[in-house]
Amino acid sequence: MELDLNRGMYKLFKVLLIGVFCVNLYANDLTYSFIKKGVDDNNTVLLIGGIQGDEPGGFLAASLVATEYNVTKGSLWVVPNLNFDSIIKNDRGAFGDMNRKFASISPDDPDIKSVNGIKKLLLDQNVSMVIHLHDGSGFYRPTYINEMKNPRRWGNSAIIDQEKLEFPSPYSNLKAIATQVIEKVNQNAIDDEHKYYLRNTNTALGDKEMLKSLTYFAITNAKPAFANEASKSLASHERVYYHLLAIEEYLKIAGIEFQRGFELNPKSIKKEIEKEIEIVLFNNKFYLSLNNPRAKIGYVPIPKDTALEYNCTSPLAALIKDKNGYTVHYGNKILTKLVPEFIDYSNLTSSIEIEVDDKKEQIELGSKIEVSSYIKVLKKDKIRVNVIGYGSKPVDESNIKISKKDIKKSFSIDKKGNIFRVELYEQSKDGDKFIGMFLVEFKDGKSS
Ligand SMILES: [Zn+2]
Repeated sequence: MELDLNRGMYKLFKVLLIGVFCVNLYANDLTYSFIKKGVDDNNTVLLIGGIQGDEPGGFLAASLVATEYNVTKGSLWVVPNLNFDSIIKNDRGAFGDMNRKFASISPDDPDIKSVNGIKKLLLDQNVSMVIHLHDGSGFYRPTYINEMKNPRRWGNSAIIDQEKLEFPSPYSNLKAIATQVIEKVNQNAIDDEHKYYLRNTNTALGDKEMLKSLTYFAITNAKPAFANEASKSLASHERVYYHLLAIEEYLKIAGIEFQRGFELNPKSIKKEIEKEIEIVLFNNKFYLSLNNPRAKIGYVPIPKDTALEYNCTSPLAALIKDKNGYTVHYGNKILTKLVPEFIDYSNLTSSIEIEVDDKKEQIELGSKIEVSSYIKVLKKDKIRVNVIGYGSKPVDESNIKISKKDIKKSFSIDKKGNIFRVELYEQSKDGDKFIGMFLVEFKDGKSS
C-alpha cells in the first residue's frame, strides 16, 4: 500500500515538474528558465541565480527554490540559470562577465538576449524586490584579518549598492533589511568563521565596476535589490545552505510564505542537489532517471532526421549535441552521454500490461517501476519486447519472468547495476519501429 502511494506521488511529481519546465530546447541554443511561484501580485520577489557560470552555490540554490518550494502566499519569480550557456561550460562568462553588461551592451554580444530578457523582468511593474545570488572568494571582513578574510573578499556577505533608496518602497531601507538577513543567517551559521557581514559597495559614489551590474541597474530603476554572496571556500551544498537561509529571510520580510520539500540543513541539501535527474525524450518515448548513471548509455532510439526534443526535472540540466551523440549536463557537471541509434518511431500504444512480483498492472511508457523479485511483460499482438541486457538475440522477450540475475549488469543505466531498460518495438516487414520504453529498478540486495 505504501509503495503504491509513493509510486502515485512520484508520477505526479514528475508530471508537474516536467510541465513547469518545458525546456524543449534544441541543443546549443540554451536560454534561461523563468518559473513563477504562487499567484502573481504587485509584491513579487524576483530571485536570480547563475549570472556567472562557475558559481554553483547560487544557481543550485535558486534551482532548489524553483523545484522544491511551494509558495503558499504571495508571488515569487525565479530565474535560476540566467547565464545557462556558461553554467554548462563551467565558465564565469563564456562571452565575458554578464554582470558588467547592464549599463550598456553591444548589439552583437551573444549575451544580449539574456541581459535584455532579465532587464524586462526586473522592470516589470509587479516586481518589488530583487535577490541576486553569487559565490564569492574567501570571506568578506570589514577589516584585514588575513589573505582570505579581508575587505577585498566577497564570500559570505550581504551586498547593497547604497544604504537607502530615494523612491517610495517598503524595501527602500536596504541596510536595515540586509542587516536583518545577516542576523538570521548568523544565528544558523555552521561555524563562526562563516559569519556574514554587510558590504555596502557605495556604487553611485564611484565603484566603476558595480555601476555596470544587475543590482545597480535595478536600484536606478526603482527596484530594491540585494546581492547575496556565499563563499567559494565552502562546498557547494554549504553555499546553498547559506543562500537558502538568506533567501528565506528576504521572503519573510516581503511577506511571502512557502513550504519547503526538505529540511534546511547542509546534509538534506546535499541529498537534494545530488538526487536523480529525470529526462524524457520526444514526449515520453524515452525516459531516463539518472541516479549515479554510467558514463555512457548506448543504443538510445532516436527518430531519423528529427531535431532532439526533451524535458528535464531540473532547470539546470541540458542535452548538448556533440560528435557521437548527446552529453547530459547538470549544472557544472556532466552526468552521462547518450549514444543514439536512429530508428523510426511507432505510436502503437502508450502503455502495456506487466506482471511484477505476482501482481498484474498496466504501466505507462516513459516511467519507472520498482521490482523486488521479477518482471514479466505480457504478450501483446504485433509487439516485440526487448529487455536491454537480457538474451543476445532480437527475439520477443514477452511472457518471460525476468529477475535481476538474468540481466547482464553492464547494461544497467546506473553504476550500481539496479536500473534497466525495457523497450517495445512494433514488428513490421520493413524493420521494427520503436514504440517506447520504461525503466525497471530492482531493489537493492534482492536478486532471486
Ligand atoms: Zn558572482
